[in-house]
Parts: sequence; structure tokens; C-alpha cells
Amino acid sequence: MHILVTGGAGYIGSHTCIALIDAGHTVVVVDDFSNSHPESLRRVEAICNTTIALYRGDVSDAALLQQIFTEHKIDGVIHFAGSKAVGESVEKPMLYYRNNVTASQTLIETMQSAGVHTLVFSSSATVYGDPHTVPILEDFPVGATNPYGRSKLMVEQIIQDQAVANGQFNGIILRYFNPVGAHPSGKIGEDPNGIPNNLMPFIAQVAVGKRPQLAIFGGDYPTKDGTGVRDYIHVCDLAEGHVKALEALHGQTGSHIFNLGTGNGVSVLEMVQAYAKVSQRPIPYQVVARRPGDVAQCYADPGYASVTLGWQATRNLNDMVASSWHWQSSNPHGYREA
Ligand code: NAD
Ligand code: UDP
Repeated sequence: MHILVTGGAGYIGSHTCIALIDAGHTVVVVDDFSNSHPESLRRVEAICNTTIALYRGDVSDAALLQQIFTEHKIDGVIHFAGSKAVGESVEKPMLYYRNNVTASQTLIETMQSAGVHTLVFSSSATVYGDPHTVPILEDFPVGATNPYGRSKLMVEQIIQDQAVANGQFNGIILRYFNPVGAHPSGKIGEDPNGIPNNLMPFIAQVAVGKRPQLAIFGGDYPTKDGTGVRDYIHVCDLAEGHVKALEALHGQTGSHIFNLGTGNGVSVLEMVQAYAKVSQRPIPYQVVARRPGDVAQCYADPGYASVTLGWQATRNLNDMVASSWHWQSSNPHGYREA
């Protein structure tokens, strides 16, 4: 298949480009590089020994999207492009509604006029809010607690409405749990701007000596060791989940929702210990107050994706940590060194 990947230069997008190419598909990327570096795609090209058609621009630009759909026969779109920082979304909600919701609407409208019917959308486990129990199933109640999460829920709703109205539309909503790790080559990985918001890149920067210590947000949760529990999933497993979703649901219609996680809950302290062991570096930490909006536990029941898509995560915590460390230690300044 010929797949348009929006946000294909980003963390998950770049790994998914590799998974698509490895599975025999071709990719076209549109990215405005607002949160990434063109070097990531150059490295994807080197890893895959191929060239990728790249359009530098904004997904909100309908004329650009029309141009792409005219110049390439696109079978489906994977839509990663968007803004993803929870704290920033509270400070700049309009940015999030414009870049996540309005841009997605423009994409879906342009797809319809171009006769492209299959859309895979990057949603998030954050749409479950504070789950009443774990593991989380797809039919659990949703309710986001910040503008980022609400923007994801709004796009999910837009996709479901479009599937009702347009009998040819195939909307695949993937709710990611916590993507971590990097490609085994160590050439591509997560390269956040400024101070990382997420646990894994923060630990990686402590291990490599860029930051003195980790603040653990809360040691008094009702969990196995008092720290927050999450479902960390290797980004290469996540990338392969997109390929499986496209292949398994090709030619279908309607809307479909899947959790992409491992089903395993890992605490912050367990992650710190795993990273210290693999990197052979100390990870100094201090337990501080809980972070507002955090939940105690969040992990998936990934059974529906397994049964329906024939996909399940195969990489373990050691693979996640080892690949993260390989990327971080070989590229201590991310893509900016390039
Ligand atoms: P990322 O920031 O690394 O990648 C997003 C890419 O989209 C970047 O290359 C950025 O330059 C590009 N982009 C942003 N706005 C754009 C626009 N308007 N037009 C064109 N390009 C644009 O983020 P990621 O971690 O790879 O996440 C990808 C998607 O997955 C996002 O939608 C995010 O909300 C979602 N998601 C991420 C996580 C996570 O923890 N990383 C978890 C759940 C869901
Ligand atoms: N966390 C932490 N220190 C940090 C970043 C995160 O203790 O500097 C904790 C956070 O409280 C949560 C877990 O690590 O329990 C995962 O947080 P992350 O921001 O990576 O993902 P999310 O909150 O979206 O699940």
C-alpha cells in the first residue's frame, strides 16, 4: 500500500515509516518539523536503503494535502501530526484545538474529496482519564482531564461521525499507552525539545549526565511500591501495530478502536532500577509531591488488538530500556548534533 504519514519525522512516525517500509509498503511524509528534525527521516532512509517523498508543511494546509493526493495514489493515511504536551495544552488550549482538532478535520475533508477512505489516528490512553479499574478495556468510560486529552477525544468523535455519514470511510483509532525505547540501530529515537515531560527521556538524560536527578512524582499511590504504574510499550511494537491495523482492516468501513499496550504495569521505581542496571549508570532520584492530573495506575487490556489485528507486543522492558540507552548514549544531543 501507499501510505501518507503525517508527522512522519516525529518519534513514533519515524519508527512507523521503518515498519511500513519493512513490510513492503511505500510512504509519503508530510511534516512541518515543528517538533522534529529532518535528520530523522534522512536516517530512516539510510536504515531502509530507500528514499522517502517528503512534503514540508502543515497538515492544516488543504491545498498542500490536495497536491499530495494528486501527486501520489494514496491508499491510507496515518495521522501522527499534532501537539502532545499536556502542560502546554493547559496554557495554550487554542493551539491544541487548532493543531489537533481543526487540522484533523481539514485532513478528513481533504481525504474525502480525494477519495481516500482509510485513516489511522493516534489517540492516547489519556482519554480514559482516571480509570475505575485496571486493566483498561476499549469500552471503558472516557473523559479527559486537560485540553490535550479533550482534543484527542474530539477527533475520535469526528472520526466516528464521519464513519456514520460516509459509508466508505474506514476510521481506525489507536489508543497508545506509554511509547518508549528506540530502533535497535540506535540511529533514531525520542528527541524532546527542552526539559522532557515524560519519564523515560528524563531518566535517559539523567543516565547520560545531562540532568542531575529525577524527580519522582509521588511515592504514596496505592500501587506495589507507592509510585505511579504505567503500561510502557516499545515504540517498534507500537509501529508494527499500525502496519497490522492497516493490513487487517484494509477494505473495511466504519470506525474501530484499539488499545495498543502490553498489558503489563511497571512502576516508576521499577523503571529507574531497570535503566540503572542496563546503563550501568546511577540514576539519582528524589520522591516529590504528586504531579497534578496524574493517575495511580494505567495499563491496557490489549486482547482486542490481539484477536482482531493479530498483533501483540513482543519486546520486554529490558528491550525498551536497552534500546533507549543505545540511542541516548550514541546521540547525547539527539539529532541536533547532525
Ligand atoms: P512528535 O512530536 O515526535 O511527532 C509529531 C510530529 O508531527 C512532529 O514531527 C511534528 O513536527 C509534526 N507536526 C506537528 N504538528 C504538525 C502540523 N500541523 N503539520 C505537520 N506536521 C506537524 O510526537 P510523537 O510522540 O511521535 O506522537 C505522535 C502522535 O502520537 C501525536 O498525535 C501524539 O499526540 C500521539 N501520542 C503520543 C504519545 C507519546 O507518549 N509519545 C502517547 C499517546 C499518543
Ligand atoms: N514521572 C515522574 N517523573 C517525571 C516524569 C514522570 O515520576 O519526571 C512519572 C509520572 O508521575 C507517571 C509516570 O512517570 O507516574 C509516567 O509519566 P509520563 O509523563 O511519562 O506519562 P503519562 O503521565 O502520560 O502516563
